[in-house]
Amino acid sequence: MTNRIYMSSPDVSDVEEKYILEALKSGWIAPLGPDVNSFENEMADRIGREHAVALNSGTAALHLALLAHGVGPGDVVLTSTMTFAATANAIKYTGAEPYFVDCLPETGNMDPTLLRETLTALHLAGERVAAIVPVDLLGKCVDYVTIGQLASEFGVPLVADAAESLGAFHEGLPAGSWGDTAIFSFNGNKIMTTSGGGMLLTDNEEIADHVRYLATQARQPVVHYEHTDIGYNYRLSNLLAALGRAQLSRLDEMIARRAGHRAFYIELFSEIEGVEIFGASTHADDNFWLTSVLVDPEIAGFDAKALSMALEAANIESRPLWKPMHLQPVFRSSRATVNGSSQRLFERGLTLPSGSVLSDQQMAVVGTTIKRFVENA
Ligand SMILES: *Cc1c(COP(=O)(O)O)cnc(C)c1O
Repeated sequence: MTNRIYMSSPDVSDVEEKYILEALKSGWIAPLGPDVNSFENEMADRIGREHAVALNSGTAALHLALLAHGVGPGDVVLTSTMTFAATANAIKYTGAEPYFVDCLPETGNMDPTLLRETLTALHLAGERVAAIVPVDLLGKCVDYVTIGQLASEFGVPLVADAAESLGAFHEGLPAGSWGDTAIFSFNGNKIMTTSGGGMLLTDNEEIADHVRYLATQARQPVVHYEHTDIGYNYRLSNLLAALGRAQLSRLDEMIARRAGHRAFYIELFSEIEGVEIFGASTHADDNFWLTSVLVDPEIAGFDAKALSMALEAANIESRPLWKPMHLQPVFRSSRATVNGSSQRLFERGLTLPSGSVLSDQQMAVVGTTIKRFVENA
């Protein structure tokens, strides 16, 4: 690899090598196998869910969660505007229309007051809201207590997009345990990875069974493969599930490492005026997936873009927060309830190297580069 310092690259060790080699030697190469079952059981145990279904991406997990809740053409699905496009894309795959809701400025998570306003307005207009999909931004859970109450009050299923928050908590309960169903992603830059993969969690056996069925081409259990539904090829392979099990065994260690990076940045920026750590006031329960800062150019004397360019010049990766979905050309015609909070986060935010593989020496290089930039700005 190059000596570039990345934001969040995969963290693999001898443990991963051992698990994958064992799976390879076991002969379970063809898609499913015992590691898939073990990975699902270990994850369900950790999160405290009845069922877990391993899939080949977080996007696939979202797609099947929505289908399992009966979402289809003509439906409206409320989701966070502050998210990665995968959330909104999965809604479109079902033929439903995403409707974006703006965020709380402190966390970037869905604003429950705006959600209530939106649900009320759509209810009065006689429109069917088929699901609510809030997103745990950068590893912090949304306010599931309030949003869960709203979902029950309006009788709408809650699908938690916990792709970024594995290992986080809300009110003492783990991310992934909230909502009628929840999904995780194990993509390459997430807190743990299967190189590509995802999982759906639920306490509802019917939903779990239906998702397993849809994920394996919707084959009826007869030898000649009878089909009565359109299916998908969305299951996680046994080899990748072995990688997932190894990563899960190291998850707490990897979270601790990322928490250390957060502490490093808090210390570094405590002296720098006009730059605050995004979400610092509420970070106790998050998984520290990514650490971002918000730059107020009036006070700092520089903006997030300039800081990003200085880092790039030193071969250090950084990136703005997600560009809100209601500002994306592809979703221009989608409806949204917005108040400017997500746009402001997009304009001021910058995500810094946060991966658990980063060494103390690499973090020191990031720190020195930032200090030098700020002194000369
Ligand atoms: C990564 C991510 C996804 C998609 O997961 P994949 O495994 O990459 O398909 C969905 N939602 C959010 C919020 C994500 O960050």
